[in-house]
Amino acid sequence: MANDSMLKFVDREQSYPDKRTADERADDFREIAQRYAVEPAEEQAGRCSQCGVPYCSVHCPLHNHIPDWLRLTAEGRLREAYELSNATSTMPEICGRICPQDRLCEGNCVIEFTGHGAVTIGSVEKFITDTAWENGWVEPLVPGKSRGQSVGVIGAGPAGLTAAEYLRGHGYDVHVYDRYDRAGGLLTYGIPGFKLEKPIVMRRVERLKVAGIVFHEGFAVGDDASLDDLRQRHDAILIATGVYKARAMDLPGGGSNGVVAALDFLVASNRKGFGDAVPAFDDGSLNAEGKDVVVIGGGDTAMDCVRTAIRQGAKSVKCLYRRDRANMPGSQREVANAEEEGVEFVWLSGPQSFDGGDTVSSVKVRKMRLGAPDASGRRAPEPDPAGDYSVNADLVIKALGFDAEDLPTLFATPELGVSRWGTVLVDGKTLMTSLDGVFAAGDIVRGASLVVWAIRDGRDVAATMHKWLKTKAANARIAA
Ligand SMILES: Cc1cc2nc3c(=O)[nH]c(=O)nc-3n(C[C@H](O)[C@H](O)[C@H](O)COP(=O)(O)OP(=O)(O)OC[C@H]3O[C@@H](n4cnc5c(N)ncnc54)[C@H](O)[C@@H]3O)c2cc1C
Ligand code: SF4
Repeated sequence: MANDSMLKFVDREQSYPDKRTADERADDFREIAQRYAVEPAEEQAGRCSQCGVPYCSVHCPLHNHIPDWLRLTAEGRLREAYELSNATSTMPEICGRICPQDRLCEGNCVIEFTGHGAVTIGSVEKFITDTAWENGWVEPLVPGKSRGQSVGVIGAGPAGLTAAEYLRGHGYDVHVYDRYDRAGGLLTYGIPGFKLEKPIVMRRVERLKVAGIVFHEGFAVGDDASLDDLRQRHDAILIATGVYKARAMDLPGGGSNGVVAALDFLVASNRKGFGDAVPAFDDGSLNAEGKDVVVIGGGDTAMDCVRTAIRQGAKSVKCLYRRDRANMPGSQREVANAEEEGVEFVWLSGPQSFDGGDTVSSVKVRKMRLGAPDASGRRAPEPDPAGDYSVNADLVIKALGFDAEDLPTLFATPELGVSRWGTVLVDGKTLMTSLDGVFAAGDIVRGASLVVWAIRDGRDVAATMHKWLKTKAANARIAA
């Protein structure tokens, strides 16, 4: 039965779900990929070669049971496929949408290596779980029998939400603190709707709320309570605060009106999508409409900014990046999407100054060329004597990446151990920080990374916290 449905990669071509045309998607923030209908999803799943050692699974940070749920999908057993996919992930439909599959599961699919084109794993994963939501197969989270112990989670991004879900399942009282007014972290306020529509995130948060996880939204640890205050309230703490300090670009004119930080721009846009009042958007400061926009950077944040600017009705959108296309960190898939939508990439170019006085009107650009590889293995850019030139710009968006905030100072706990980059240090086995009963996970430990790694970290840390809390409870019983 299984063999009849599978191994169809030789005569069945790879086929991703259709994308809406660039014209259709230029005016809205809806996702650009259509959903598979049932039949094509089953057909595409049936292309899997059912490898004995599935490299897709090995290279998926969650080690999802990919060949197994592909087989179940190909056999039309969608509910079982969903249950298996759900067993290793708290957010399969989100990973299916925004994982860089070309670098993870699909990039390591064996039939990709044979030239037949990878199984469209991410699109099938999204299809399975979306179908599960529509059919009511996504069960409510059932809290375990109460243990009388409580956990405080700082940060409601994918790492914090994942840990909260598993810990609630183990029977802990779980409180999640987040300084934003909505949970979800970068899923909610960073990543634009055209990659991940917000109701998809909000229904996950709602499921956790219904299960009794208490969310303290608009609660900034450091301002509204110190870390020590929370340690008094809870038996264990998880720090899952992500990384939010934008990398600086110290250039003449950098403080001019119209030179803005990427996350400010993206948060404002996402808030408008929720229907919030956003004065800095309404007064034009964070709105690209009618403007010549220059985005500086070559990572995924820069890609999200250029594509957001297009949808806001920018007059022109340029992306300046100091290396070339082959050496950029952002996903090639996103570059292709951006180009289709009308973004102009200006490779081998770096900003020198932001000119025009109080309000920026142009960017002076220096041509670059690639020298020898640097420590990251990518060829390092160096100035090209070919010279400087200027481009018009009424909005410049700086998207150079993010570092960790100074948490020991913010949390008033100088004894919290951090690396020289400010990321929180944890014991490799217990995932505990230098503070007893305080754990950490996600970007604040790894540095800026991926949603799927944050989920993996949340899963791992929930397991080590559970173990530690059980020991704590046992010791308390012995002492009593
Ligand atoms: C613009 C952008 C686009 C991205 N696109 C992708 C993508 O397409 N695919 C992908 O896999 N990854 C993407 N990423 C990376 C991904 O979003 C992160 O790796 C992931 O969200 C990290 O999860 P986290 O839970 O560690 O932190 P976050 O998602 O950052 O969540 C941390 C939470 O902690 C809260 N917090 C911080 N400090 C405090 C405090 N003092 N008190 C209370 N709460 C606090 C924050 O408000 C936030 O809600 C993108 C990142 C950005 C910036
Ligand atoms: S979680 Fe990401 S890497 Fe893993 S199977 Fe899904 S899309 Fe691929």
